[in-house]
Amino acid sequence: MTGARTAWEIHLRGVVQGVGYRPFVHRLAVRHGFDGMVRNEAGEVRIEIEGPRGSFEAFRRALVEEAPPLARIDALEAHEIVPGGRAGFRVEASDTTPGGRLPVSPDVATCAACERELRDPGDRRFRYPFITCTDCGPRYTVIESMPYDRERTSMRTFTQCAACLAEYGDPADRRYHSETNSCPACGPNVWFCSPAGERIDGDRAIAVAARALRRGKIVAIRGLGGFHLAVDAGDERAVARLRRRKARETKPLAVMAASRAEAREIGEVGEAEEALLGSAERPVVLLSRRPTARLAPSIAPGLDTVGVMTPYTPLHHVLLEAVGRPLVMTSGNLSDEPIAIGIEEARERLAGVADAFLLHDREIVSRYDDSVVRVVDGAPVFLRRSRGYAPLPLDLPVATPVPLLAVGPHLKNTFTLADGSAAFVSQHVGDLENLETLEHFEDALARYRALFRIEPEAVVRDLHPGYLSTRIAEETGLPSIAVQHHHAHVAAVAAEHGVAEPVVGIAYDGTGYGEDGYTWGAEVMVADLRGFRRIGHLRYAPLPGGDLAVRRPWRVALGYASVGDALGPHLRRALEGVEDEEVALAWTQVERGLHAPLASSMGRLFDAAAAVLGIRRVARYEAQAAMELEALAGDRPAEPLPFPVSDAADGSWILEPVPLLAALGERCAAGDPVADLAARFHESVARATVGLALAACETEACSTVVLGGGCFQNARLLSSVRRGIEAEGVRLLVPRDLGPGDGAISYGQAAVAAARLADEEV
Ligand code: ZN
Ligand code: ZN
Ligand code: FE
Repeated sequence: MTGARTAWEIHLRGVVQGVGYRPFVHRLAVRHGFDGMVRNEAGEVRIEIEGPRGSFEAFRRALVEEAPPLARIDALEAHEIVPGGRAGFRVEASDTTPGGRLPVSPDVATCAACERELRDPGDRRFRYPFITCTDCGPRYTVIESMPYDRERTSMRTFTQCAACLAEYGDPADRRYHSETNSCPACGPNVWFCSPAGERIDGDRAIAVAARALRRGKIVAIRGLGGFHLAVDAGDERAVARLRRRKARETKPLAVMAASRAEAREIGEVGEAEEALLGSAERPVVLLSRRPTARLAPSIAPGLDTVGVMTPYTPLHHVLLEAVGRPLVMTSGNLSDEPIAIGIEEARERLAGVADAFLLHDREIVSRYDDSVVRVVDGAPVFLRRSRGYAPLPLDLPVATPVPLLAVGPHLKNTFTLADGSAAFVSQHVGDLENLETLEHFEDALARYRALFRIEPEAVVRDLHPGYLSTRIAEETGLPSIAVQHHHAHVAAVAAEHGVAEPVVGIAYDGTGYGEDGYTWGAEVMVADLRGFRRIGHLRYAPLPGGDLAVRRPWRVALGYASVGDALGPHLRRALEGVEDEEVALAWTQVERGLHAPLASSMGRLFDAAAAVLGIRRVARYEAQAAMELEALAGDRPAEPLPFPVSDAADGSWILEPVPLLAALGERCAAGDPVADLAARFHESVARATVGLALAACETEACSTVVLGGGCFQNARLLSSVRRGIEAEGVRLLVPRDLGPGDGAISYGQAAVAAARLADEEV
């Protein structure tokens, strides 16, 4: 039987385009003695093979088990067809008929083989800043439309030379059908624009840029998904100048180290951090900073962590090697604007910031910020999911009956396009507070619609009537579904774990618009994907100045002092250094209830604690006070302070923050070290949270707890709550694929809307 000739047709779905899958199939077919063809079709890869019957099973298994590192096989279907005298094996051109849908590969960091060639003086791509192969290089940032072929990417303006074409056409070559293939003779160019406006081309461009950086200059570098602003990370004056010019006062800056070894000199690198730093996704990884690290103090003032990444493009590799020291690499924008991608755009917007420019002429099709990850209890937690991850889809536990657009939150926006059970979460968009970010939103949405062929028939938005995102939703003219912010947080985490049943959800957050019109942000709920019931929350307190209070932790403390006398005697420390007039105004706002909305926000409670402990009264960026509180607490062991729970008239639980804040003030006045009190504050919140979660499991007959919301970016809080809940044998779900912050909201909105719509159908 082994000798009998049979033929099969195989369909594969998943991430199978732009990842070297067709060349892989070719090699595999040849190895197993099959003739036939492989082709990208709309929505899938189709294979026809003909050959020895006995080899088929092994071939089929290898299609999945030996797939290239970047491929992800979601489905494989095979059926026998009539043998038709096929001879030889061909990789056929893509079929461009519309209809199906393919996941688009994210950009992939330079692979080890390309890195070797990059450093090999004998290789024709020695130090070539655009070296790629089928296993690595730009994808999402160069793809204009699908299927993935060079003519539909921004590489199409570069015609391959004879040597490159030979590789492209050779099934035995690593660059067989590599759509981004190029070399110094035929590929994109790099050049340096000096402060005087002089243009320096080629190899010298890198050397001159490196020299400028070593001399403390700010260089704007055109990268993969946009511009970075770079300076020597050890040069305090240069870093301070960058901050001034960029109008970014103290928010931490990311650092690029030449290698993992260099990263280890900067921060503590455990197993999980090591893997992330070397991964194909190559995010910025938050590391505990070593006291010996030679970093400018103003890179991450007041924090014990620093965000580090390693080079993910060949341009980064050659530049970092030439500079010989770590660089600050922060997004090329002014505070709060989206990252610049075009050369002219960058010249205009970054003219007042950068001293010089390092440019290239491969167009960036999509804006693509760096992703940021931190490791908590050995597992990665996303602080921002963007480059390297988007636009890979996530599953929805309940498929949506109609295609959906979920427009996401107001700040740290992403959107989600969903169809059936596939949810395409966008890259990081930013704060929807200015025109530039709105344009970024619209560009990215247009690209997603085209790439994934989703025409939404319903739109999902936040409850808040005044957000720009709400207006975007209304302007689509589609039927709209509103989802409460914290329900979306909890739903997002449940959904990414595939859970549709009721759970106890804890959402700790900065702000979200509540169903009662007040500001929420410390919610205990029973929720499934369709709805939720709030069963506990932090006691409301006025936030004098509303949104202004986010940057004024002392105002939050003052708001709390107004709901309980106990804090009064200790308020002085929170108000130190604040103008009397400002304090008087805030009191007036509280007393008259003018511009002092009621809020139940865990993020604000962290701010208030930082103010009462005298750590920070005025914040330069959102959550600064909370982050410094966490940094001070470190991992020192601590006993909780009282954080009582009372019962409201409607039977819900109220967490009472005033006794906790008062205890902090008392201890602080008695001379307890602030760092100990910061740790005790964390443990108080954790213990109260665990208590509420377990009690809710009992009263609501739930066996699963879900944590969501930006406060769980706090590693100590997340870790302590996890320990407490898991110690009781209760199942705990924490953010895994999207992160605790607002980047997950659009996906949560989509999961909720899908479940509600599916319900209506029934
Ligand atoms: Zn490669
Ligand atoms: Zn070439
Ligand atoms: Fe949130």
